[in-house]
Amino acid sequence: MTKQSIIFTCIASALALSASTFAVENQDFSSMQMKGIEKVEVKVDLDGAAQRLSQAVQFPTISNQDRSDFDEKAFNDYHDFLVKSYPLVHKTLKRELVGSPRPFSLIYTWEGKNPALAPAVFMAHQDVVPVAAESRDQWKVDPFSGAIKDGYIWGRGSLDDKNQIQAILEAAEMKIKEGFQPDRTILFVFGHDEEVGGPEGAKHAADIIEQRYDKIAFVIDESAPLIPGVFPGIRENTALIGIAQKGYVSLEIAINGMGGHSSQPPVESNIVALAKAVEKVEAAQFPYKIHDAIRYQYRFMGPELPESQQPMYKAVAYGNNDSVSELEKKFMEVMSQNQVTRAMLHTTTAVTMFNAGIKDNVLPPAATAVVNFRPMPGDTPEVIIEHVKKAINDDRISIRDISASTPATNVADPNGGGYKLLEKTIRQTWGNDLIVSPFFVIGGSDSKHFQARDFAPDVYTITALQLENVKEFEGFHGVNERILVEEYGRSIGFFYQLMDNLTNL
Ligand SMILES: [Zn+2]
Repeated sequence: MTKQSIIFTCIASALALSASTFAVENQDFSSMQMKGIEKVEVKVDLDGAAQRLSQAVQFPTISNQDRSDFDEKAFNDYHDFLVKSYPLVHKTLKRELVGSPRPFSLIYTWEGKNPALAPAVFMAHQDVVPVAAESRDQWKVDPFSGAIKDGYIWGRGSLDDKNQIQAILEAAEMKIKEGFQPDRTILFVFGHDEEVGGPEGAKHAADIIEQRYDKIAFVIDESAPLIPGVFPGIRENTALIGIAQKGYVSLEIAINGMGGHSSQPPVESNIVALAKAVEKVEAAQFPYKIHDAIRYQYRFMGPELPESQQPMYKAVAYGNNDSVSELEKKFMEVMSQNQVTRAMLHTTTAVTMFNAGIKDNVLPPAATAVVNFRPMPGDTPEVIIEHVKKAINDDRISIRDISASTPATNVADPNGGGYKLLEKTIRQTWGNDLIVSPFFVIGGSDSKHFQARDFAPDVYTITALQLENVKEFEGFHGVNERILVEEYGRSIGFFYQLMDNLTNL
């Protein structure tokens, strides 16, 4: 989950100041918003569902950075609880435990009537981030209590992301009870290590599914929830559907030389040599470019924004990186003023670790640093290593890829059937008075293990619930994580409706 959507606030207001006198080129910039969808109320057993989510939150399925600190019991207990809570799902769907080295991720296969149709994949994750000890006293309830009070279900995982696992299973249980069988096969993939990137779970689930099916119709996974007021100056609500994610590469930069006694130091110590190298890496920023997902975003959102801003958005929507116009340059300049939106413009470079020395009077023989990159498409680990080598230009320094690196993903088709299906379901659930738009996800989820491969390029990410306000967003990875009971009901309705709509994809 990412906090980037809040930052659109700044961008929308900043861009309002620029662009207006430029001639609008002869391109179509009419509204892309789906019209005439009727709202559907889905009747849900809200008390029962809230109780079950409350119980789900009580299993401390924490993903720690230190993977040896893994609570197998919490995951096993959670799995048993799911089996007991959703009997029809477990009678009808095939359930598998997958993952390596730990098989704690779940794949459910709901066989469709027509095996010729490509399956749809619904993702969510079982694991949650730890609760920082120093934030504990800011919580109004015990973070693993699952307390239901003041109209909310409270606790770690109530928003990120057990709510989505439970909502999917609630909806499936309801549909099976009604005698429903999907036309196309539906797979549920519930990872157990999303919060550390998904190398054990989602990656292996993607391997297995890729072997079984030639093509996936689309994948849906979590990302930004609907947040009223996140874009000022436009109608109150926006639903952003993530269509692309950045990649992940970490390089270790090291020097191995002579150590010695601090009473007789050389002209340049290993620490300083490495510090200079790291400084050069940080200075050699990757150039800015406009990602296709951002061009799509402004094609969809631009026509809904005040007319004075539209020439800018149109230039972005229809531009290309080979011949960048003045308006696009202006756009990138505004985006680059803020660290979140700047990250959308290039492969980012973040120096995250620096290790050297063991004693005050010993010159260390070696020093190492780690730099984490979040690549744009085309910036493969090889390209990045070349870039870093050239920047450092010092034979004493070695560079190696220490990450389970993932490339930047494909861009899901915002005009594809999966996107339209989602937009329709969003409007059926939350009404027509909102703007639905694709967007570029700089954080991302473990669904990137699917989206980086060609058998499943159309990964759409959205957290299917509407927050009351921006403040509620603090719960994601923060304190007082909670979900409005009524909104959780709408979330279940969303997945219920999505399963129905799949028939007409
Ligand atoms: Zn999450």
